[in-house]
Amino acid sequence: MTYDANNIFAKILRGEIPCHKVYEDEDVIVFMDVMPQSTGHALVVPKASSRNLLDADTAVLAKLLPLVQKVASAAKVAFSADGISIMQFNEPAGGQTVFHLHIHVIPRFDGVSLKPHTGKMEESAVLASHAEKLKAALSAVV
Ligand code: AMP
Repeated sequence: MTYDANNIFAKILRGEIPCHKVYEDEDVIVFMDVMPQSTGHALVVPKASSRNLLDADTAVLAKLLPLVQKVASAAKVAFSADGISIMQFNEPAGGQTVFHLHIHVIPRFDGVSLKPHTGKMEESAVLASHAEKLKAALSAVV
């Protein structure tokens, strides 16, 4: 399978459509998932083009996981989470719906089940407020 530069995350990376941005450096952007499975669900997206984990450059992956760790730590603090789920899907059979590599960072709360994957769109004001909370917590660790 090939990389399609018209996928929605590529458009976000090119600034063609907006996102609720939390963090950006030369290699990675972090923004809120518009259909969060839990409060504070964020996506860590490398800027390098790859369809998913299977075709990603190992140098990109080596830089990615340390930032995922920081975002996870920040999310736990920002949302007073009891735990964090890290998810990553590959190809339609693996549950992937957007074909640009990304890692889901999902705060978890004792006794609370995850909402469905790509379920209900969250209100923009809520996403903006969650992005600000996560940004503030992340700035303490990056
Ligand atoms: P996956 O199924 O792993 O490819 O996940 C794609 C994720 O992207 C889903 O959780 C969607 O809710 C989320 N998503 C889709 N479009 C957007 C968008 N424009 N901005 C932020 N998140 C999005």
